[in-house]
Amino acid sequence: MKVTVLTGGVGGAKLVLGLLRVLPADAVTAIVNTGDDFRHIGLHVSPDIDTLLYTLSGKSNLAQGWGRADESWNFLESLRDLGGPDWFQLGDRDVALHVLRTARLAGGEGLDQITADIARRFGIGATILPMSNDRVATRLDTDEGDLDFQHYFVARRCAPKVTRIGFDGAETARPAPGVIAAITDADAVLVAPSNPFLSVDPLLAVPGIRAALVATAAPVVAVSPIIGGKAVKGPTAKLMEELGIRLANASIAAHYGDCIDGLIIHDGDDAPEGLAIARTDTLMHDDADKARVAQVALDLAARIAGR
Ligand code: GDP
Repeated sequence: MKVTVLTGGVGGAKLVLGLLRVLPADAVTAIVNTGDDFRHIGLHVSPDIDTLLYTLSGKSNLAQGWGRADESWNFLESLRDLGGPDWFQLGDRDVALHVLRTARLAGGEGLDQITADIARRFGIGATILPMSNDRVATRLDTDEGDLDFQHYFVARRCAPKVTRIGFDGAETARPAPGVIAAITDADAVLVAPSNPFLSVDPLLAVPGIRAALVATAAPVVAVSPIIGGKAVKGPTAKLMEELGIRLANASIAAHYGDCIDGLIIHDGDDAPEGLAIARTDTLMHDDADKARVAQVALDLAARIAGR
């Protein structure tokens, strides 16, 4: 049984952790959004890949929701004292990863290879693939002008009103090695409950990925990010409102269209027509929740495949 998950950061990492509780690690592949990647004071930061690396290796700061646990901040304080930018938080342990990644990229290695090596060093058995080794940058047209993702998300805390989302470089980006095969050869493909517009759409914008989802013989099941008619965190609800999209599972199903065959929805929420549905409490607090949601998604995939 091979399962591939399309994922952003925090919301997606929860589902991947759940899968790792119900499947052997070598059966799980995560294809990760890199549209949030950016260069900061010369460092290549890959926020969603780092969230996967830290979460799956038990190193993440769960209370904070990003970065590493047991972190110290000498680098950031020194940077601030020197007059450097301090709007993007960089912990000392975290910096080591960014420095190494940046140096290896400058040496000509691919993001896929570097990510695989770090995952191995961290003892992660699952495969973590960047969606692309090529630069794709999420940009937002807003009432404060054209913003790159980190300025919108971190510096401006999602306050600007968004009118359009674009993915610079996506037209010419190639899927990273192994990405298309991971979709084509899987027994099931899952779309994590990540932000559909900011975390999953960049993946679908890389030529070949959407087509592979449509063409794969594997059932494709998304977990809806909507819970109780709301988005549990982050800018999903605000974005949908600004883009004129109703906050409902029907909108999520319509958005993914023929990319998905099934949708996992939260108990009591609206059930869209035209695709297979399974219900559970989809809020993933603890490990048991994560395993349950992962299992419900795998069961729906099996039902769709007639297994
Ligand atoms: P990312 O997009 O994967 O980086 O993850 P975020 O943590 O920013 O979450 C994005 C969206 O996923 C949120 O707006 C929520 O609607 C949804 N989400 C987060 N956690 C959960 C969860 O435990 N269950 C479900 N169903 N959705 C979640």
